[in-house]
Amino acid sequence: MTTRSLLLLPGDGIGPDIMAEVQKLIDWMNTNLDAGFTTEEGLVGGSAYDAHGVAISDEDMAKAMAADAVLFGAVGGPKWDDVPYEARPEAGLLRLRKDMELFANLRPAICYPALSDSSSLRKHLIEGLDILIVRELTGGVYFGEPKEITDLGNGQKRAVDTQVYDTFEIERIAGVAFELARTRDNRVCSMEKRNVMKSGVLWNEVVTEIHGRKYSDVKLDHMLADAGGMQLVREPKQFDVIVTDNLFGDMLSDVAAMLTGSLGMLPSASLGAPDAATGKRKALYEPVHGSAPDIAGEGKANPIAMIASFAMCLRYSFNMIDEADRIEKAISNVLESGKRTADIMADDSTQISTGQMGDAIVIQMAALSP
Ligand code: NAD
Repeated sequence: MTTRSLLLLPGDGIGPDIMAEVQKLIDWMNTNLDAGFTTEEGLVGGSAYDAHGVAISDEDMAKAMAADAVLFGAVGGPKWDDVPYEARPEAGLLRLRKDMELFANLRPAICYPALSDSSSLRKHLIEGLDILIVRELTGGVYFGEPKEITDLGNGQKRAVDTQVYDTFEIERIAGVAFELARTRDNRVCSMEKRNVMKSGVLWNEVVTEIHGRKYSDVKLDHMLADAGGMQLVREPKQFDVIVTDNLFGDMLSDVAAMLTGSLGMLPSASLGAPDAATGKRKALYEPVHGSAPDIAGEGKANPIAMIASFAMCLRYSFNMIDEADRIEKAISNVLESGKRTADIMADDSTQISTGQMGDAIVIQMAALSP
């Protein structure tokens, strides 16, 4: 039987609450579908700091490097506001991204029919929405050097950030976008600012070149990133896959996210390059939201973003497409039945707890499985 190794890093706040619901699904799939998942747990964020004085220990980092995939909950909280900068909870996530070389961040924005009223846009604009934003995660202006504030000596200071991209970085993120588009509606829109930025000129050239050379079956459009932001809120359903750099991706994916309603609904995946020998990519799956310390341990957290992140893990790390589809359908059915956690409550719905939401999704998964 195939074995599939998962490292679970629940983290802080509601992280353990929502990870427990994924664990239920893993147990159900092992028992009923012979899925062969093996799980190990590790500490990250504030909980790792409390135990080891660092945001992730070398031992847990080694487990992450060895696992087929990492499931990450959330980190942070007021308890750790004053820990040393290098040991702050987010440093654990940044080390995972850096050491695993996770350069591609995938953020789907899917509108579940039952939630089409909770968007800030009119229903007809977002009903049936299914777009994927592919953001470059390890380069660009967040990492480019020089990055500094200098004192000009005349009462003024100067701040510099450097937007820098090499050809290979653009090629590999574009490759991910084109390959994912082939599994969807086969369309990619690349966004940059070639009108005012040299990095945008190169971005546009490289995406166009690799498209012609390797992916000409995929429909490619280019859009200036500011116009792209405007189009995302004007007519979001025109997009299939959007590929963009680290900075624009950060903003555009948050805009796209809010089209679909609550923070508790949004999954994400971060992927590395395929291993030369096995073809497997290092991968980490996490909800978009944070550790929500205000509701931690109270049974109020919505576990759907975490469970949908696990569905992405099945899709992208294990090629378990049917199972991933079934989990997403199970989520949709539970929402349709009117069961809601507090963050997505509507007038005619029934409020349920984190655990009850996890149970309801497992029951639906069972009902949908052969
Ligand atoms: P947050 O996402 O934790 O919470 C924002 C609001 O949304 C809160 O009211 C919270 O209760 C609610 N919320 C979030 N997720 C929810 C869920 N699954 N179900 C129901 N409600 C949910 O953001 P914040 O309050 O700005 O940050 C809290 C902590 O999380 C901070 O320490 C921050 O640094 C950290 N954080 C971590 C990550 C991460 O681990 N990737 C991301 C963002 C923020």
